[in-house]
Amino acid sequence: MSNGRTKVLIIGGGFGGLFCARSLGGDDVDVTLLDRAACHVFQPLLYQCATGTLSIGQISRSLREELARHRNVTTLLGEAVDLDADARRVTARRPDASTFELDYDVLVVAAGMRQSYFGRDDFAKWAPGMKTLDDALTIRRRLFAAFEIAETLAPGPERDGWLTFAIAGGGPTGVELAGQIREMATRALANEFHSIEPEDARVLLFDGGQCVLDSFAPGLAAKAATILEGLGVEMHMGVHVTDVRREGITVTPKAGGPSEDHAARTVLWTAGVEAVPFARRVADKLGATSDHAGRIAVEADLTVPGHDEIFVIGDLVGRDHLPGVAENAMQGGLHVASCLRRDLKGKPRKPFRYRDLGSAAYISRGHALLQAGPVKLTGVLGWLGWGFIHIAFLTGVQNRVSTVATWLSTIARARRTDRTFMLGSGTSPEQPYTWAACGPVTHPRAVDPA
Ligand SMILES: Cc1cc2nc3c(=O)[nH]c(=O)nc-3n(C[C@H](O)[C@H](O)[C@H](O)COP(=O)(O)OP(=O)(O)OC[C@H]3O[C@@H](n4cnc5c(N)ncnc54)[C@H](O)[C@@H]3O)c2cc1C
Repeated sequence: MSNGRTKVLIIGGGFGGLFCARSLGGDDVDVTLLDRAACHVFQPLLYQCATGTLSIGQISRSLREELARHRNVTTLLGEAVDLDADARRVTARRPDASTFELDYDVLVVAAGMRQSYFGRDDFAKWAPGMKTLDDALTIRRRLFAAFEIAETLAPGPERDGWLTFAIAGGGPTGVELAGQIREMATRALANEFHSIEPEDARVLLFDGGQCVLDSFAPGLAAKAATILEGLGVEMHMGVHVTDVRREGITVTPKAGGPSEDHAARTVLWTAGVEAVPFARRVADKLGATSDHAGRIAVEADLTVPGHDEIFVIGDLVGRDHLPGVAENAMQGGLHVASCLRRDLKGKPRKPFRYRDLGSAAYISRGHALLQAGPVKLTGVLGWLGWGFIHIAFLTGVQNRVSTVATWLSTIARARRTDRTFMLGSGTSPEQPYTWAACGPVTHPRAVDPA
């Protein structure tokens, strides 16, 4: 404590961090929300940015703007890189690689997961993942550029390679991307090219399981597979992607047998997740237990054992098989806020209780899966339910209105209006700040949240 008010430091402004900060707005605490991106991203719609339906502005919102009305909440741009639990201090890095420090009384680790390549980080060069706005724009560039490059090539294997899109991972994100690429090729792009037939684009979906979307009820997953087949997605189940290179990928059957090469100039990776580096640092520093993906084991109230001042929420929680979904993160954020209010009143904290409100996955126009308790919907009903849920949780009224308007126009006219992509240039680096290196520069602390 200092100045009589508890200093709450939240790392990450995703679903968990944002809901926690919002809920504490107006309470008798000082909140600092630190995020490496300075905006909240609605990850469930990233694939719609990647495939040209929505703009990045429609699925994200500046945290500063979102929290401006809460005078006790400060938002900062920076990446948490280190923790001194004894001093109750987090070291953060600015985009220019200089560092600063933030003191806390209560720390909330809500930094989420990143894409995992299962130890083959070299794959990332050819196969971007799908976790951030940068990823969505990278995928958009690769998708639309592939069609453009194919248009300039003579018929033959090279052109075929550019018109083949391989996706590793048959979970919701892989399925959504696969469906969208086929839909884009057969509708929006169908009549725009002169040399190629975009409808000929092949989409190959690879997964180690027996069926796509294996977290859904078997009937729904089977229905999804049928819809994908109808769209023209080629599904390769029971295989592991064992190599990714410039010209394509190699897959190996899980059950054994010879590997297969597939030529594809665009490879997208949605196959796995792992904790962001800061979460691993926290676990190391606290001696906390974490699982293979880096999820941190926590007590029933979501605090790290032996540290009732450090909460872990959202995708990073390693307890009771809590799912890596937005609802778990949002409920975790609200739970922490409730614990802190109870602390202020001198009441004991309550354990976290996750309420499973169901899950949904988009497959293609008019087709989505919705599963909530006994309710299982597919087809148009599932699609409408999916749309309603996503609009309800999208941040910002303006984003909701413009997204609905864009969807209606996309349904009516099959167009994709957000197809702009950037290729950079030799004279101006495309990304001046990359978080790539942790340099030695340290400026004096500029901000004291107290
Ligand atoms: C493509 C995709 C589609 C999805 N679709 C669905 C869906 O349909 N339904 C569903 O329920 N869930 C879906 N999810 C999962 C859902 O988005 C996550 O479960 C949820 O975002 C987790 O929330 P979180 O707060 O734990 O982490 P996140 O929302 O990932 O937020 C983490 C935040 O921490 C920041 N951060 C990371 N490291 C640091 C650091 N060191 N310092 C400072 N800031 C940092 C990041 O910038 C980010 O803003 C999807 C996820 C993806 C990637």
